[in-house]
Amino acid sequence: MTETLNIALENSYADDLSGFSVSWNGDMVPAPEIVLFNTDLAENLGLETLNSPAGAQILTGAQALPMSKPVAMAYAGHQFGNFSPKLGDGRALLLGEIVTDQQRFDLHLKGSGKTPFSRGGDGKAVIGPVLREYIMGEAMHALGIPTTRALAACTTGEQIMRQHGREPGAVLARIASSHIRVGSFQFFAARQETDQVRQLADYAIARHDPDLADQDDKYLQFLIRVSERQAKLLAQWMSVGFVHGVMNTDNMTISGETIDYGPCAFMDRYDPQTLFSSIDHAGRYAYGRQPVMAQWNLARFAESLLDLIAPGAPDTAVQLAGDVVNNFMPMHLKIWENLMRAKCGLTAPDPSDKSLLSGLFQLLDGANVDYTSFFRALPNQKTVISLFTDPGPITQWHAKWQARIQTEERPETQIFADMDAINPLYIPRNHMVEAALKQATETGDTTQVERLISVLSTPFTEQAGAAEYSRPADQSAAPYKTFCGT
Ligand code: AMP
Ligand code: MG
Repeated sequence: MTETLNIALENSYADDLSGFSVSWNGDMVPAPEIVLFNTDLAENLGLETLNSPAGAQILTGAQALPMSKPVAMAYAGHQFGNFSPKLGDGRALLLGEIVTDQQRFDLHLKGSGKTPFSRGGDGKAVIGPVLREYIMGEAMHALGIPTTRALAACTTGEQIMRQHGREPGAVLARIASSHIRVGSFQFFAARQETDQVRQLADYAIARHDPDLADQDDKYLQFLIRVSERQAKLLAQWMSVGFVHGVMNTDNMTISGETIDYGPCAFMDRYDPQTLFSSIDHAGRYAYGRQPVMAQWNLARFAESLLDLIAPGAPDTAVQLAGDVVNNFMPMHLKIWENLMRAKCGLTAPDPSDKSLLSGLFQLLDGANVDYTSFFRALPNQKTVISLFTDPGPITQWHAKWQARIQTEERPETQIFADMDAINPLYIPRNHMVEAALKQATETGDTTQVERLISVLSTPFTEQAGAAEYSRPADQSAAPYKTFCGT
């Protein structure tokens, strides 16, 4: 049956890196069925034939493609600051890689059954969290933020026990430019297996930074590249109010793509302490702490590369790697500031911009104003002032802002159009995501999920009949809580 699909996978991770993963197969499942299929993504990758009953078998892991060598990948990780030397794909499988003209992509399943890395878990996933990852990843992609993407969500026909009872079992098939994480390096570094760390670094360089392969200081340069990608990614998260929720080192990719949409959500009213995850009691991964936590993760990554950066010269290695880690925050802030300036319609930098921006955040702090609505409304003085209970400070700030944009060398209509192209009108509003997931989980009907994904696919363009998707949740509603997607 599977031969008819004619999909050629490569298995470089499994073949080139022996001892970095375990050969494994997905569970048999009673009734695999595709619930959502990402046609656009599939077309780009030549995977359209997976949208079929035979494809459902592959996409749940119940059967393997003829050229696929599925593996569970090994990794370690700091979870909420505590090091676990052995995590790994406890409910996931790398099926192989799709190689297009330009790039190599992983095809990876989540929820396909227990593996040797499962520890106490059941190896399964349920439909709500699977669709949640699908929605969030597509929203991030449409916002122009690097991310893993869902290829398909399938139900398995099983019922899986979770906190609130039995839920439909599901598998997410996702595409990533790789699944190499900070934790992948930590796994070998913690065992002092320097040769393995080097093999993994060489593999990652070949895949993500091939131009570095022949450089004498390639491992230091690689650390710098990862740092640059993360600095930019975090600036992008911050600019749209994205709260990842579980930035453990096993959830931080080398590619700079957002990965593992468990307890993530978008911030409504601006508040650096915004936190949705029910398990993050200390607020470690609150909105405003994310850049610092990314830097912390980067430091763990740097530590795992020390032996490669300056072999036999640990002090030099610490100095070189330390400089990279110290440079993360200034680099991040520069990118962030440029994004913020763009959100305010500013292109050419002006010395006054710093105080304009700090004035803006002082204004937003404690004002109970919806972050996304604020930027979208900024060009319209009346609308933006109406968002605040106290009109005084915003009126003053808005006048300053208006004077500042007069100094831009573009007509106002162009400035406002450029602002609309960076300030989304539609983000995955928590109450809309929840309503759609509830419908899908309780009735199996994915109409609302599909509509939400469709609206979010063009987040900057106003769409007829989509007003409710742009509105913040009722402020009197209980604080939004998310749970880890297990
Ligand atoms: P996450 O918080 O989803 O990034 O997962 C952290 C670790 O827990 C990874 O090693 C996962 O494979 C593992 N894990 C999460 N959920 C399950 C599950 N239901 N069964 C087995 N392992 C799991
Ligand atoms: Mg994870």
